[in-house]
Amino acid sequence: MRSVSVLGATGSVGESAFDLLMRAGGAQAFRTVALTGGANVARLAEMARALRAEIAVTAWPEKLAELRALLAGSGIACAAGAEAVAEAAARPADWTLSAIVGAAGLPPGLAVLNRGGTLALANKETLVAAGPLVMGRARRTGARILPVDSEHSAIFQALQGEDLESVEHVTITASGGAFRDWPLERLAQASVAEASRHPNWAMGQRITIDSASMFNKALEVIEAHEFFGLGSERIRVLVHPQSIIHAMVTHRDGGSIAHLGAPDMRHAIGYALNWPARAELPVPKLDLAALGSLSFAAPDEARWPALRLAREAMQAGGAAGAVLNAAKEQALDDFIAGHIRFTDMAPAVERALEQAAREAGFAQSPGDLDAVLAWDGFGRRAAAQGRGAA
Ligand code: NAD
Ligand code: MG
Repeated sequence: MRSVSVLGATGSVGESAFDLLMRAGGAQAFRTVALTGGANVARLAEMARALRAEIAVTAWPEKLAELRALLAGSGIACAAGAEAVAEAAARPADWTLSAIVGAAGLPPGLAVLNRGGTLALANKETLVAAGPLVMGRARRTGARILPVDSEHSAIFQALQGEDLESVEHVTITASGGAFRDWPLERLAQASVAEASRHPNWAMGQRITIDSASMFNKALEVIEAHEFFGLGSERIRVLVHPQSIIHAMVTHRDGGSIAHLGAPDMRHAIGYALNWPARAELPVPKLDLAALGSLSFAAPDEARWPALRLAREAMQAGGAAGAVLNAAKEQALDDFIAGHIRFTDMAPAVERALEQAAREAGFAQSPGDLDAVLAWDGFGRRAAAQGRGAA
């Protein structure tokens, strides 16, 4: 029986994965090793019981007693805290999904790679913050990373049987998020609630706001750079409001192979779960005649400075990814908390990158987890400092 673990099981991606596992036979079809979550221990316990997991872990230590009570008599072990999440990830399992949000996904992701496991990766921050470390670790241990971010899954699928050498560039699409059509001068007034409404995808709040600011696409461009080893000049972003084409691979001979599908994360998660085979998935099939037309536009960098910052970070290399990601997480926290405006986020990230670039060792890619975490801390502090000035 195949064994699986889901990190971040109670989130948006985690719920989609749970749905797929249950539909594919649940505890009859999979041996579930570990499920992890955050504050919602009631849902975590429910999932752990349904899949008869060996262990359920909440990242929040103060939630342990509640989780333990919820799992009393089930025979399911429980634990709490960041280290317990990483330990759960280190337990042998054939397939481990990382659907944690933020740089908190890096230590458990590395724990999967350290044991040579298969890591289905939704947590793009793992690659943005520590791409060379993560890819190097996977090469050394023979671990496999399967992309779950929809655009990267799309590129991965379009590249099956192709030679990366023949690829001229890849194109990642972006819906444009909540504010695609807003007048630029209104963006500074955008509220958290307005930024949290995505036109096409139902996702966690953080990635939804990142879609409105295009920081999600900025992270994804860096993610593609790290995962596929493509230079920044070979990765393009195209605004495509319908979110039907997820990505496109353009070859030197002029042919482009696009990946199309309904905006439903169960496709990319299911592809990674069944890879290299394909299985029936509960995903709506496209009806292009009903859709009638698809539209495209070049991204406006005045509206979305995050895209320029991503390009600059890729060109700088070294610790830039770790700093960009951390500064973005801090700026997002500050926006959600009402400390800064929507349009203050990109300048906060830019200031953090400028400050970091003056630090010794910035040009070197962080060689271990501690080094990544040190740059992560720097990025958060630098972004928070700008708060008063904003
Ligand atoms: P979410 O906020 O809905 O869920 C996040 C999960 O991580 C929850 O289970 C939460 O309890 C857990 N978590 C939060 N903080 C944690 C911490 N500090 N330590 C351990 N666990 C923690 O997020 P999501 O929208 O499901 O996104 C998860 C990841 O997948 C993100 O990296 C996101 O960018 C990526 N992603 C999401 C989607 C989507 O459709 N939601 C699509 C592509 C990629
Ligand atoms: Mg994506």
